[in-house]
Amino acid sequence: MLEARPHEPASLSDASSVNRDDVESRLDPITGNWTIFAPHRGQRPEEFVPPKDFVGKQIRCPFCPGNESETPPPVWVGRVVEDDSSHDVLDPSSFQSAKNDWSVRVVPNKFPAVGDASPRSHHAPKPPREASLFTRRPLTGGHEVIIESRSHATSLSQLDVAEIQLAFLAFRDRIRYWRGVPGIAYVTAFKNAGARAGASLRHTHSQLIATDRVPSAVASMIDRMIRHRVSSGCCLLCDLVRAELKARQRVVWRDKSLIAYCPFASHLPMLVRVTTLEHQACYEDLDDLMIESAARLVRRVVAWLEKIRPGTAYNFCLHTRPPGTQDPPDSFHWSIDIFPRITQIAGFEWGSHCMINPVLPEIAASKFRACAREEDPRRLR
Ligand SMILES: [Zn+2]
Ligand SMILES: [Zn+2]
Repeated sequence: MLEARPHEPASLSDASSVNRDDVESRLDPITGNWTIFAPHRGQRPEEFVPPKDFVGKQIRCPFCPGNESETPPPVWVGRVVEDDSSHDVLDPSSFQSAKNDWSVRVVPNKFPAVGDASPRSHHAPKPPREASLFTRRPLTGGHEVIIESRSHATSLSQLDVAEIQLAFLAFRDRIRYWRGVPGIAYVTAFKNAGARAGASLRHTHSQLIATDRVPSAVASMIDRMIRHRVSSGCCLLCDLVRAELKARQRVVWRDKSLIAYCPFASHLPMLVRVTTLEHQACYEDLDDLMIESAARLVRRVVAWLEKIRPGTAYNFCLHTRPPGTQDPPDSFHWSIDIFPRITQIAGFEWGSHCMINPVLPEIAASKFRACAREEDPRRLR
């Protein structure tokens, strides 16, 4: 049985040997976007890009059992019970790396992209006179790594169902933790699988970033959702899901509670969106059963994707209502987007911020449905 308990994180400043004081964000006055500068991230180990003096030896995987001392102490530990595939959440403060008794663990990122959430006055340099054009701010929050398996697997599709369910419960518990931290405005979980997707280590893992600011693109998305809610009285994503179910051609999968579909205006090829049929603003408010079902569905989508494009790199991004959002009409609706890295973002896209997608979502959905049909024809709608 799962027993979720609130856990205090290990001290983030103790957890990392790198200097987080160099993290700052700068505002581009032309675009209104903030860019995060985290120079220490250049020190990360790169499994996919060996150093110049590389002589064939493997980088010691810091996520494999036996190497726990190479990561900061965990803030969340879960274990699959082998007898019945149920799971326990363990007390991370009593976790002993020597005991090596874990299935999924969450650790602070050793090379975080955000500064420590604890107040640090020296993080805020006195703005120069030209501050209105050279606006900089410290960026604080948390950056964690969810190590999804003891085995040196490289994709979600290689995990046991119990392992991926545990990983998705870890997302929920850690998002719940961070939304309770004063000043945290935005939390997201995401996965980079493969070098083209931005991964530096092969061992299957996801990440979570919490920040004290809602990114401008997310704020603009929420603004659109709020305006739709106010004008129509309905949640925009609920309306879109209903419309996709009616249109049918982009629906990949549905059951009594979840849907996977390729959105009508998908900005990336073969992107699949997973969400609940019923309105739910926050992923972290889903119950255990729903999270386990979502984990199973995401695993299947990844397996279908790998069947269509063997060995593909891919990402997923989990969207949940940012804690810092003033959202009185309940306009946000959680979702997970899964997408392979097929195309490179090229000059036109960089210049115009308008994506060119070479795969119609109707074609993408038909390919995914074919995979689902082969797998279990009785359950395909
Ligand atoms: Zn490993
Ligand atoms: Zn909704």
